[in-house]
Amino acid sequence: MTSYISLPTYSSNIDERLRMIAGKCNQCGTLAYPQRPVCIKCGQNKFERVPLSGEGKIYTFSVVNGGGAPSEFDEEQTMTGDVYCGIVELEEGPRVMVRFTDINPEQLKIGMKVRAVVRRLYDQEGFLRYGAKFTQVA
Ligand SMILES: [Zn+2]
Repeated sequence: MTSYISLPTYSSNIDERLRMIAGKCNQCGTLAYPQRPVCIKCGQNKFERVPLSGEGKIYTFSVVNGGGAPSEFDEEQTMTGDVYCGIVELEEGPRVMVRFTDINPEQLKIGMKVRAVVRRLYDQEGFLRYGAKFTQVA
């Protein structure tokens, strides 16, 4: 789940977040998105930047209703009401925690094809934060 991200952190990896660039391990080829400091498989730390298609399918999902959510959801719930989030398995393999947008919640189902779109996430410290959300492939 998205938790507090400081402005310097947000700015430093904005390219990866908006353009969905994964790190591909130079040694074993494992893809990590977001890129990590070390490879989860072999532990080395050299990566090639690989743009992802942004397409995948819903692995699991859940609805965070107003009232029961951690405080970092406050701003977003003010704007959008309930928050739909889950895990998407990208075409390239990595599974990522995501928010869903522009999907009729009754149509959310495991295996549904989705793709990334850039959306306004929330306002923090006077800056609007943008990031990838996932919507249904028409
Ligand atoms: Zn590796």
